[in-house]
Amino acid sequence: MSQCVDPIVGKILAGWRYDISGIAPEMRGDYEDHFTACEHCRARQRLHRTIDVSLIALASVSAGVFLLAFGVIRHFGPRHAFWLELAALAGFALSALIWLIVAVATPAPMAVVDVAKLGARHVHDRLPAEIRERLPEELRLKITGS
Ligand SMILES: [Zn+2]
Repeated sequence: MSQCVDPIVGKILAGWRYDISGIAPEMRGDYEDHFTACEHCRARQRLHRTIDVSLIALASVSAGVFLLAFGVIRHFGPRHAFWLELAALAGFALSALIWLIVAVATPAPMAVVDVAKLGARHVHDRLPAEIRERLPEELRLKITGS
């Protein structure tokens, strides 16, 4: 792995988990320049965002599984169903809590929105011109950003 080109800036960025989305745009320039110049920090930023998104995905799957378990217990109604149901609901609540913490504490939602926007733009660019023209101005602005 390559070395950071400016360890002082690199250290600051590491403290933020390489997330500069919360910084005012006019203060962001220097850090954006660093990301452009520094392969090391860019790789780290990618890694951290991947972790964030994975955590969200994992918490979602986990919440879904617990909810499914709750449904299965309800359906079959085994002995001790009450305690099993309680355990399933507790698991669901915990997963939802983790999901919320990750969503609030990390820029994962922004990363997901960015990916969604990129996808939407991709689809938009492939649409035939006459359909594109019919899209509401407001929506088009949101997708293309121009
Ligand atoms: Zn760096």
